[in-house]
Amino acid sequence: MTSLLLSVIIPVYNEEENIKPLLKRLIPIIKNYRYEVIFVDDGSKDKTAAMVKKEAKTNKNIKLVSFWRNFGHQQALTAGYQFALGDCVVSLDADLQDPPEIISQMIEKWQKGAKIVYAKRKKREVDSFFKKMTAKFFYKLINFLSDTPIPEDIGDFRLLDREVVDFLNKLPERLRFLRGLVAWPGFPSDFVYFEREKRYAGMTHYPLSKMINFAVEGIVSFSTKPLRVASYLGFLASFFGFLGIVYAILGKIFLPRYWVTGWTALFTGIMFLGGIQLLTIGMIGEYLGKIYKEIQNRPPFLVKEKINL
Ligand code: UDP
Ligand code: MG
Repeated sequence: MTSLLLSVIIPVYNEEENIKPLLKRLIPIIKNYRYEVIFVDDGSKDKTAAMVKKEAKTNKNIKLVSFWRNFGHQQALTAGYQFALGDCVVSLDADLQDPPEIISQMIEKWQKGAKIVYAKRKKREVDSFFKKMTAKFFYKLINFLSDTPIPEDIGDFRLLDREVVDFLNKLPERLRFLRGLVAWPGFPSDFVYFEREKRYAGMTHYPLSKMINFAVEGIVSFSTKPLRVASYLGFLASFFGFLGIVYAILGKIFLPRYWVTGWTALFTGIMFLGGIQLLTIGMIGEYLGKIYKEIQNRPPFLVKEKINL
């Protein structure tokens, strides 16, 4: 028991008020293990880094990686996985929405053989109706589109075995939809249930625009089906277009006297085709954008400083 090393990685972005209360709840739970707590400061503009440094002075197991700027939650987690040395790695939000108390249950399930232990939300009472509905819709959609089943009602609160972490660290993919990447290899997984709490201090850093980006990123990373939908829509449009042409020619030949200018047909045809063309170009653009970003081959983040690491 004592020989195992537990890593806890915590992405933090403007969470100065949450560092202290979080550690106060977290440390008593993990102090019986050999542990390290790695904060990844995702370019915070407040005193988050200073708060972590203060804690890291008295406790060498508390570590910090700082970015120069905000690279995003998934990239911060990616950095955490790269620096973590543990036999198992738990990722946790800094705002105390993920109760650290269930980490011991996660470790138990891991010791019984699960390589991934997901923390699954029992209820989402504290989340707004809007957040619940959009999340539900997103998971239904991505699981319909993707060949990799991605479990619902699961955030980035999970335990990963060293083998899974090594797999993640080896992936060359730069834009990381971690919930999908973790599920992709099919490692044996288990669940621990919890009730999501209210954010302790501060505000969410996931406004609607970031939520949409996250959802599109997830879908584009794990499915090419939208591209096929583009082909189907194109086929459908061509079919109706062909019917329209036959109708127009036959009308012109057999009913020349009644054949008025027919701008309705023209108008609807143009609208229909125009809509489908824009939609499919947009879909192709999403993938093109993803390919472009991947071939640029920039590193996923850049480290500004490291403490205790
Ligand atoms: N976070 C981050 N970078 C970002 C946005 C968020 O590192 O660009 C961190 C944030 O500090 C928190 C976690 O990711 O620890 C989850 O973010 P948040 O609580 O804002 O998301 P929500 O719980 O509202 O979905
Ligand atoms: Mg939160």
